[in-house]
Amino acid sequence: MAWFRSRKKVAAPPGKLRRWLRVIGRGLGALLLFGVVVSVVGFCRAPAVAVIALPDSSSRVTEVTGLYPVTMDRVATPRTVREIASLVASSPGPISIGGGRYSMGGQTATPDGLQIDLRNFHGVVALDTAARIITVHSGTRWREVQQAIDPAGLSVKIMQTYNTFTVGGALSVNAHGRYIGQGPVARSVRAITLVLAEGRVVRASPTEHPELFYGAIGGYGALGVIADVTLDLASDVRVQRVDTTLAVADYLAYFRRRIQPDSNVIFHNSDIYPPAYETTHAVSYIRTDLPVTVPERMQPADQASWGHRLVYRVITSGTIGKWIRQHIIDPLMFRGHPVTWRNYEASYDVSELEPASRARSTYVLQEYFVPSDSLPVFVPRMREILRRHHVNAVNVSIRHANADPGTDLAWAPTEVFAFVLYYKQRTDGAARAEVGRWTRELIEAVIQSGGRYYLPYQPVATRDQFARAYPGSAVLFALKRQVDPTNKFTNTLWDIYEPGPDGRVPDVSAARMPAVLPGEVRIALDAIPGYEREEGAEFLTHPEWDLVYTSEAYARWLSAGRPPSDFPYVTSVGTFWRSYYATWRASRDRSPAGFGTHVMLGVIGISTAIEYGLKGLYETTVGRLAEANAPIDGTAEDRYAAKVATEYAQLINEKGWYEFSFAHALVHLWTDVPLFGPGMLRKWERRLWLSTEYGFKAVYATLIGLGTGAAYTPDELQRDIVVAGWSDSLAADTAPVQLRRVAWLDRRYALLRVPRYAAFRDALLGLSQAASRVRVAEVSGNDVVTITGTAPREWRAPPRATVVTAYAVPTDPTWMRVLLAVNARDLLDVLAEKTRGRLVVDHIYDY
Ligand SMILES: Cc1cc2nc3c(=O)[nH]c(=O)nc-3n(C[C@H](O)[C@H](O)[C@H](O)COP(=O)(O)OP(=O)(O)OC[C@H]3O[C@@H](n4cnc5c(N)ncnc54)[C@H](O)[C@@H]3O)c2cc1C
Repeated sequence: MAWFRSRKKVAAPPGKLRRWLRVIGRGLGALLLFGVVVSVVGFCRAPAVAVIALPDSSSRVTEVTGLYPVTMDRVATPRTVREIASLVASSPGPISIGGGRYSMGGQTATPDGLQIDLRNFHGVVALDTAARIITVHSGTRWREVQQAIDPAGLSVKIMQTYNTFTVGGALSVNAHGRYIGQGPVARSVRAITLVLAEGRVVRASPTEHPELFYGAIGGYGALGVIADVTLDLASDVRVQRVDTTLAVADYLAYFRRRIQPDSNVIFHNSDIYPPAYETTHAVSYIRTDLPVTVPERMQPADQASWGHRLVYRVITSGTIGKWIRQHIIDPLMFRGHPVTWRNYEASYDVSELEPASRARSTYVLQEYFVPSDSLPVFVPRMREILRRHHVNAVNVSIRHANADPGTDLAWAPTEVFAFVLYYKQRTDGAARAEVGRWTRELIEAVIQSGGRYYLPYQPVATRDQFARAYPGSAVLFALKRQVDPTNKFTNTLWDIYEPGPDGRVPDVSAARMPAVLPGEVRIALDAIPGYEREEGAEFLTHPEWDLVYTSEAYARWLSAGRPPSDFPYVTSVGTFWRSYYATWRASRDRSPAGFGTHVMLGVIGISTAIEYGLKGLYETTVGRLAEANAPIDGTAEDRYAAKVATEYAQLINEKGWYEFSFAHALVHLWTDVPLFGPGMLRKWERRLWLSTEYGFKAVYATLIGLGTGAAYTPDELQRDIVVAGWSDSLAADTAPVQLRRVAWLDRRYALLRVPRYAAFRDALLGLSQAASRVRVAEVSGNDVVTITGTAPREWRAPPRATVVTAYAVPTDPTWMRVLLAVNARDLLDVLAEKTRGRLVVDHIYDY
């Protein structure tokens, strides 16, 4: 009531003013409606063109996080050892090996190599239930092993928590699980067969070729393809779940007293709760003779559910979500003491973790192995790093492992506790760089605690950190040089960390540029203020550029003496909206732009629609009538309009439109252009129309300029890019002035500084002449680059370029404007290809 009363006291505007306000309001509303109508009609008149792509035989290999896609030349799916051997023998390399592809940093792929995907190489070769031994093909998933042995009352002895992984993948990372009294999977392996680089198949065990056995297990495919695997099995027993919550500081004593000495404890782990990391929830599964309360012997394969997705969403939605997990969700989930089969508890499927989308953010694992004595040193350090960087952790799970039997890359040279960090991160370049920073801090903390970090995750460690954590890598690399002298077997991990024969990691080349920049390069780039640019805005700058192209087309139209009345005003408005629609769709999942960007684009789009709509209306009516009176080459005013339009189009390529001096254009219309001459009617019609247009825009531009100047800081006019294969002579050969090397980085990556806009485009087009020698790694911290250009309608998109949108050029519908998205590493190849394909590049977006 109070507000109602106070409203009554406000004096109403006097009647005259009210009438004026109403008129102005209606006028603005009508203009807005007019703009919307022009926009809708324009959008319909500028339909998208379907562009056919040139054949591309390459394959994009992705892993579970989606952060490390790698384009490979070919993926082969052998079914037999013979097929694997013949593939290896006949391929010169590089070859990578893929199991389930759940490692999280490109460990199964190398750019332009051959991937041997082993998922079709599966099945049980032999099962001896009495001796409790099984031999399987390495592409077999644990689930298939469990299905084969469960009827015999047997269980896998050591495997990961989830049964989705392949046996070969588990051996190659030397995986571990939640088993008590066990440790790395190597402890349960009797023998393997290994396909070596020349295609020879050898058997390896602790007594036969032990160097190959201990090199290949935990060797991430460095020595060859593990073909068949013979494993020890255990009995499938009934287990009962018990749990307790305690302070992290008390955990070691609890484990020593209650868990380790109890031979009936089969599984055990303890989840530390973020964000405090002070409390842990210990869960154990203890062998029992009680009848099962869960009759199913194994869990279903598909465990994806909205319930799981919701729980992970809640946990990662801030401090409140984490509180809800600790105090509501977990107490509910861990009610009672169910009794299940061991195989039931060992048959979780990773689908239970899968979010609805990993485009914008993704869930990732990391793992740190700490000798038991060092827990009091490592844990506070880890807690401090995770808190300081506000890591969005789901939990840190503690597990125990006994010592490794002697693999070269052992992560448990002695008894260790594993700290498994499961967290959520954004997928854009800036977020990835930030994750790299705190991960290197955690790696340093664990190394200084005498421990190691796990290698199937993001490869962000420096080479020095890798060498200190894995001193046995020298033995592995020496062996690799003997059995794989041409270095056929590699992947992102080895592309980064494997040294050459002289012990040095070789300089990077364009042909063999790894999929990931080394940690050393990242550290150097982190030190450059403003190096990283937000990815989000990249796509949505294109609609604004569409307006630049329209202004250029208009200037060319007038300069060619074509009548303004024939210009396709409405369709030109439509291309703006077409571009906006396509770039919004392309970017909304991965890097959505903020609300402000959409408001800005909406305002620009509608005001352009109003301007072009009014111009179109005028030119096709009054303007067209006046054109009848124009001399053949137009009036001096027509030529002046063309000159101003050209100057305007040139300026907006590099500056804001409001920086154009329309006032200057207006003054010179009256001072420089003769008042009298042929076609007097057209002359004065043009003079009055142009005066109206320039005058209105002069006022509007001044207002916008004042507003923009107050709101924005001026943009920097240079960008940094990182390239491989650079030599300073290339600058002179290909793009004389524009490219400047500002630093040599690790492995001789070069940091180049490039002017923006047209100079950026010309520099990269120049550099594409040397596409076979030089390769772009990233632009301003980002690995996707967008390109626009025009091409004849029959143009085909080059391999490795994604067409974001294409639409007919309004002034010449036999041509189309195309927006391509390209990975930075393919940029120069795509630009080199465009010449053959007749793409005229307008713009390479430079963030
Ligand atoms: C949700 C989730 C949970 C996880 N939980 C655990 C866990 O509890 N314990 C644990 O230790 N790890 C865990 N990991 C890590 C996981 O164990 C490893 O990534 C494992 O290697 C995945 O198996 P994969 O079949 O997907 O192997 P891939 O990722 O396909 O391959 C891993 C490595 O092994 C190599 N490789 C694969 N097969 C062969 C072969 N036949 N011969 C030679 N080299 C080969 C590949 O080249 C690659 O370098 C987890 C990962 C995820 C995503």
